[in-house]
Amino acid sequence: MRERTKYIDDCKKCRWHDVCEGGSPGHTHAEYGHMNEKDLFCDARMYWFDRYVEHQSRKLLGPEARIIDDVPALDQAY
Ligand code: SF4
Repeated sequence: MRERTKYIDDCKKCRWHDVCEGGSPGHTHAEYGHMNEKDLFCDARMYWFDRYVEHQSRKLLGPEARIIDDVPALDQAY
């Protein structure tokens, strides 16, 4: 299954590749009839991965902590 992201350009360059690995193969196959696409819920996965890291970094390092510079702060619109 890990091999599938070799064929998905967005996943190859995604910062969440190692934890997401293209998302659910089952969802992807059900939606597209093959697995060489990123997960149908990719945008939501990225949003929540970013939010989780932002939240944990603030808990550990304080309210001004920013680990991922290009992600809006939790209190800003995405
Ligand atoms: S978050 Fe999206 S682009 Fe990133 S690895 Fe998962 S499916 Fe691919």
